[in-house]
Amino acid sequence: SKRQTMPNHMRKGRFYSMANKKITVIGAGSVGSTTAFALALKNLANEIVLVDINENKALGEAMDIHQGSPLFPEPVIVTAGNYESAANSDIVIITSGLPRKPGQTRIDLAQNNVNIMKDIASKITKTCPNATYVIVSNPVDILTYVFTKVSGIPEDHIIGSGTLLDTVRLRARISQYLSVSQKNVHAYVFGEHGETSFVPWSIAEVSTINIRDYKEYIKLSNDIMVDLDYDEIYQYMRSSGAKIIERKGCTNYAIAVSVCTLCEHLSAGVNSVDTASTMMHGEYGLNDVCLSLPVLIGSGRVQGHILPKLTDEEIAKLKLSGDALKKVIAQVNI
Ligand code: NAD
Repeated sequence: SKRQTMPNHMRKGRFYSMANKKITVIGAGSVGSTTAFALALKNLANEIVLVDINENKALGEAMDIHQGSPLFPEPVIVTAGNYESAANSDIVIITSGLPRKPGQTRIDLAQNNVNIMKDIASKITKTCPNATYVIVSNPVDILTYVFTKVSGIPEDHIIGSGTLLDTVRLRARISQYLSVSQKNVHAYVFGEHGETSFVPWSIAEVSTINIRDYKEYIKLSNDIMVDLDYDEIYQYMRSSGAKIIERKGCTNYAIAVSVCTLCEHLSAGVNSVDTASTMMHGEYGLNDVCLSLPVLIGSGRVQGHILPKLTDEEIAKLKLSGDALKKVIAQVNI
């Protein structure tokens, strides 16, 4: 068969790498293959399996990434496989999906991708019952909800990438305005990964300063501080995906590092905070819907949520996001 397999002597005892993890990526398209490449570069797995209905595509991507392995920080085996060769993965990342066809409504696309997700869930959970699942395919909040409902996997082992990408874009934009490292920008996007996402500015901070007070407290010697244009920053965050797709046909780099970050935090023994999509159980009055809030992630699972004090207006926006997602859930056949 054309399919590559890992030699048996290498399977025994995963002693040859510090990153003792097997990660399967379902969907070897732009997002899946770039994620696999980033996982290898960041030494987050020693075995990466790419699964795609387009077997040739998975094989080509796996070969190309694997051939870089002598130059990766640690040895990595990257193969194209199927649900059987994915068996016993620590993490499964789902990036498979179909783009919207001309004339197709968003709901029709959602139904299509819901059907694909149900099919994949029934197969992958048989060989990877103990894995943690990271859902990336769109509409990501709907598909995270569907996966949670149909898979039989415990909820704390299911994470939708949700607004992590939006949060990353937001932080990148704010740091450009303020000439400060992205790492010092603590600002988040909550809610749906989509139209109703919003920025709770009341909790956005630069270093220790609330973002609304930055002019008063942050002094730069060359006095280049500019006014933050909150609307522009929001629009930049919201429209980036469409703009990038218009220019190059897909988005892959920022989402790939976002997904890698989730894997890195899952693999760590200490909890980290990411905005990600999980099932709601009464948080801010939300129930039976998946959307993004700050999630504590570590030791292979969702450990809990952080629920900051929000303004009434922000809570109303979160509810709007939940309602919009529930409307879609009501229209698709799960
Ligand atoms: P792509 O078309 O390049 O790749 C999708 C791959 O999925 C294709 O190779 C296709 O053959 C495969 N596929 C389709 N059905 C499958 C099945 N049943 N089993 C296995 N593989 C299957 O698309 P892309 O640009 O990589 O995007 C993938 C998904 O990720 C899309 O849904 C996209 O909207 C989503 N996405 C999400 C975010 C986010 O922030 N959540 C960001 C970017 C992209």
